Amino acid sequence: MKILNIFKMKKLFEASLIVLIFIAIISIFFNFSQSRANGKIIQNTNESNKLTSNIIAPNTSTTQPVVRVPILVYHSVRPYFAGESNSIKKYDVDPNNFKLQLQYLKSHGYTAVSFDKLVKYFDGVPLPKKPVIISFDDGWENQFTNAFPILKDEKITATFYIYTNAIGKKNYFSWEQVQELSNAGMEIGDHSKSHPFLWKITDQKLLQIEIADSKKTIEDHIGKTITTFAYPFGLYKPITIDAVKAAGYTSARTGFERTTHSKDDLFILHSFEVSNNMKMFVGNLEHLK
Ligand SMILES: [Zn+2]
Repeated sequence: MKILNIFKMKKLFEASLIVLIFIAIISIFFNFSQSRANGKIIQNTNESNKLTSNIIAPNTSTTQPVVRVPILVYHSVRPYFAGESNSIKKYDVDPNNFKLQLQYLKSHGYTAVSFDKLVKYFDGVPLPKKPVIISFDDGWENQFTNAFPILKDEKITATFYIYTNAIGKKNYFSWEQVQELSNAGMEIGDHSKSHPFLWKITDQKLLQIEIADSKKTIEDHIGKTITTFAYPFGLYKPITIDAVKAAGYTSARTGFERTTHSKDDLFILHSFEVSNNMKMFVGNLEHLK
């Protein structure tokens, strides 16, 4: 009797193993065909671009619509200065080059949009043809003194992510400057309170201070709702995303050098850093997937 039971159990074990292997094969095949389907949607979007001259029609497909919106990240806009290290240089774009980059966008048919517009696209509001998002991090004062006048000259809007502890400190925006950017139609985003390694934080109270309280601080100063967040260093964990959603944001930006987004990516929107190198700027803008 005992032997028979063991025999039966062995058979049962073998049968379950076969079922598990079968399920694994099916799910690999399913994922493969899904990613193929996504690729197809990108092509369809490009096709419809050719047909409709000014807008990208909202994609109402239920199978993960994808839209290409390059998200540019700037840090400092200033000329190189003597003694500057390579690691700092990496984050500096010369004002003349910044102007050339904006002019390139305009002459190549790009229209700058906000994160809010990208979110609304997935609710059915069309985007302009060749949308692009220009974003700035950390609230460096040189963005206000050097980039803001050029943006105004070129009539282009951008998103400025600030972290609240820095505001009012030397080399950073003042609250008056943040207000002026907002009044000029620039989108203001939250980049946390103290710019920590958010992904390391698991304490709910701390997460709330960095993500929800900082949002309220900015809102109290500028009198507008803040809807977009940028993870400091682009890094996050699922618990970070949960806190960002709970705080009422509708989008969040990370890094990782991609330009296509779906509705599921709204809290991990990929972006790429802009350098002073014009060739690299054009290469990323035009060819990054
Ligand atoms: Zn930052």
